[in-house]
Amino acid sequence: RREPLGPGRLEQALCQASDVDSQMSQLVGLLELSEDERRVRHLLVTLFQEVFTEFFPGCAVVPFGSSVNGFDTRGCDLDLLLDLELTKSLQASTRDAPGAGSGSGAEDSILSDIDLAVTPAPEVLELVATVLRRCVPGVRRVRAVPTARRPVVKFCHKQSGLVGDISVDNRLALLNTRFLQLCAEADERVRPLVYAVRLWAKQQGNPSGGGPLLNNYALTLLVLFFLQTRSTGRSISGDEDRAVVAGWDCSFPRDVASLEPSTNTESSLLAKFFHVFGDFDFTGQVISLREGQALPLPPPTAPETGDALKLGPLNLQDPFELNHNVAANVNEKTASRFGRCCRDAAKYCRSLQYRRKSSKGRAWGLTRLFQPGAVEPGAASAGAFLISIPLDGAGSSSQQLCQEPGGRGPWFWEVCDAIAFILRDVLKCSCTAGKPPRAPREESELPVDSAPSEELPTESDTEEPSVAEPSSVGSKRHLPEVTNGTTLPAKKRPRTNVPDEAANWSCAIWHRVWTGRRRVRRQLQQGDSPEGPDGDSLELEQKVSEAIVQQEGTEQPLQPLLRFEASARAASTRREMRVLLRLVPSPVPPSPLFRDFFHFLRSFLPATVRRRLGQEPTGCP
Ligand code: ATP
Ligand code: MG
Repeated sequence: RREPLGPGRLEQALCQASDVDSQMSQLVGLLELSEDERRVRHLLVTLFQEVFTEFFPGCAVVPFGSSVNGFDTRGCDLDLLLDLELTKSLQASTRDAPGAGSGSGAEDSILSDIDLAVTPAPEVLELVATVLRRCVPGVRRVRAVPTARRPVVKFCHKQSGLVGDISVDNRLALLNTRFLQLCAEADERVRPLVYAVRLWAKQQGNPSGGGPLLNNYALTLLVLFFLQTRSTGRSISGDEDRAVVAGWDCSFPRDVASLEPSTNTESSLLAKFFHVFGDFDFTGQVISLREGQALPLPPPTAPETGDALKLGPLNLQDPFELNHNVAANVNEKTASRFGRCCRDAAKYCRSLQYRRKSSKGRAWGLTRLFQPGAVEPGAASAGAFLISIPLDGAGSSSQQLCQEPGGRGPWFWEVCDAIAFILRDVLKCSCTAGKPPRAPREESELPVDSAPSEELPTESDTEEPSVAEPSSVGSKRHLPEVTNGTTLPAKKRPRTNVPDEAANWSCAIWHRVWTGRRRVRRQLQQGDSPEGPDGDSLELEQKVSEAIVQQEGTEQPLQPLLRFEASARAASTRREMRVLLRLVPSPVPPSPLFRDFFHFLRSFLPATVRRRLGQEPTGCP
């Protein structure tokens, strides 16, 4: 029996892998259906088959979609086709036979009143729903959805907790299921890549509140198309196994053994996937899996029907139903968000945090890619820079957090106090409670490469803060205030002054407190402390900043080096507790100096905030 995938278990397991490749292959094992889960699905299909056969003699209940196409995940829905073709023929031959009307019991009860060949689809669907409701034990919440592009009856099964759809006329889905299955079997790199892209896409919908990027079928086709273009660029059509379904040529080799092995052996396919689609002209061409290439517009009209492919901001042609744009429901905003998410992910994949296992137990590689908000797309596009502060469940504040996972209770303000303390007292920023920051106006004015993910780091980037027990640090202010607002000591800020939605600050930095910290820290540790190295307290971090300020000279600069607005918000889910800090630099686009500072802060702040809260600076949530 496999352990249930509890909160944080996936992240934990992935963090322990040795490199990204092993994270990729472990991902499949962690997510795919267990043997037990497969058995339950099989039993359910058998049960459905038995019940439906009583009412529709000759029918076949056939699973399709992710339960069987090789891209199954725990809890994925159960897609079933109720194939009534043989039932229809049987009904026709019984009706036409001499002495018609005295058919079997089943026909007497249901099929004696209707002729399946001419009954409108919604009525057949209602009939199927009625059989499900009344006759299949354990089935609940049955609902016919006749208006969907592919009409279905939805249901859920109480004992197994499975949800599913039954469609009556969807033979093309059986074919594309077989096609996906063939692709999964053809190359062992396919499944890990599809699983990674699906999970990544799922997480992109989370903290920013935008819906899912693309549905799983569309994502899978994108990955397959990407692989087609990486290998020999072969199209899927072939002379073997010719098949025409609903007028469409659905020929493709059915046996994986008949395929020539791929000549492509490249690695880092995930990073390349993001790179390719981050820069892809989705609007100006049609992605064709049948041809194995992107076709210029307009695409050739399929000869079988007069209907042309419905073009939109993202054009992904179904491999068989050639006038069907699988991404037809994707609007312009989502299409551009998809491109942006890919660009951000591609950037993150170039960073050391992606490529190298963290020696300090921090999130790295895929783990961070899958964290909602860690590589958040909206932030880059809006000219904002995000810092994700994961919190662990050990401290008292975390217990409160658990009680109100999405809320902004006392725990949230404690985190805000800690952020303000680090900025103001440890890093010597001017930091004034302010208005929520506003992102710059137009996307065109925004920095195109303001990614929240780290690029290859400089000395200050790689430096990890080393902090130990929290200490009572004074809150002396050495620097002038930037605005006339009242700056309150972090611990005493009255709750009533804080906006409901977030904690916000206007900040200014006067000294390069992020440069050379390691060296100064070493000097301080070796210096005046007779007891030897004084560990790595927040007090030490504060002294490091003070030493850097002194080194720069006693003259107070006239202008700050950098200004930015910061706002914190709770972004915790049932699985994770975290606060997102959003920085909007002023002016936009930000200077390279701001980027340096941001890279430093992204590494420094989460650990020091956790330390301030009495939590261990740990990475994997
Ligand atoms: P999951 O259920 O894990 O999200 P899935 O592949 O089963 O993945 P569903 O949305 O349940 O996705 O769809 C079931 C099947 O229906 C797909 O595998 C595919 O065969 C077919 N299908 C889904 N969406 C489309 C679409 N937009 N165009 C054509 N066929 C589709
Ligand atoms: Mg499904």
